Amino acid sequence: VFGEINGVVEGTVFANRKAASERGVHRPLVAGIAGIADEGAESICVAGGYPDDEDYWSEIIYTGQGGNDTTKAVRQVRDQVLEAGNRALATSADRGLPVRVLRGSGGDPTYSPLQGYRYDGLYYVDRYWSEVGRSGFVVWRFRLVRIGEAAVAPSVDSDEPATRISGTVQRLVRNTSVTQAVKELHKSLCQICGVNVETVAGPYAEGCHIKPLGRPHDGPDAPGNVLCLCPNDHVRFDRGWFVLSDDLEIVESATGRPSGRLRLVKHHMINLSCVQYHRGLFSSASESPSSTPRESSLRTPKKQGTQ
Ligand SMILES: [Zn+2]
Repeated sequence: VFGEINGVVEGTVFANRKAASERGVHRPLVAGIAGIADEGAESICVAGGYPDDEDYWSEIIYTGQGGNDTTKAVRQVRDQVLEAGNRALATSADRGLPVRVLRGSGGDPTYSPLQGYRYDGLYYVDRYWSEVGRSGFVVWRFRLVRIGEAAVAPSVDSDEPATRISGTVQRLVRNTSVTQAVKELHKSLCQICGVNVETVAGPYAEGCHIKPLGRPHDGPDAPGNVLCLCPNDHVRFDRGWFVLSDDLEIVESATGRPSGRLRLVKHHMINLSCVQYHRGLFSSASESPSSTPRESSLRTPKKQGTQ
């Protein structure tokens, strides 16, 4: 069941996981993610199980599951892979499915209930990527954004059985004056495939931030961090299907195979550190999972301050 559970309003507190499970809010008793790999995730539980989690209420940077040795408390001993619950959250991102969020008292004290588990409404999965976590192993991470009340249509009030139509955002395309300027430099031609999309209003292209805007990446809204892409290539790039090499070759991240060169125009310089950052987000998409800790290559500013 995706979306709200009939009769369970936001803010409902459950004494324990079992009570939340019986109401259908978050069914598993231990796992943090409820879902099926190729259908989507219906709910997550944010309860402080992973030290990499970050909770800002309207945004959650959530760590995927797996890699732990259950005999050693919560101790990651292997890389996480994009399968099972992690794949389910990725599917939710691709389909724009709403995810119920249950916060437990073990999470960040700012937004967690004092006791038990609280249902905190619906979020959508904005994007996902991999990085080396505090344990030194690869973790998959998911940025969840709270769905505003305006995004959900009210129930229809009539004698007919209630028809509830709810929607959510599948893909947010950010338009800034910077992305607009880059699109104009490229005359809306995609820097990967060279095509522009014709609409009745003229050619259409999207500005793609190489290092993502917003937490935890905080990429700059500057021309050097923006590509002009067609919608297809924008999705492929955001989801890590391909990355760019330092000499701006387009490389399939799963196979490492080069597939052409980024199209460039005068007066649009690409920021290489942003290219490297994006590549780092998907560098574990091709490698086989490791059981040897790695040096972390990505640290968010928040963590640097707390270590
Ligand atoms: Zn394209």
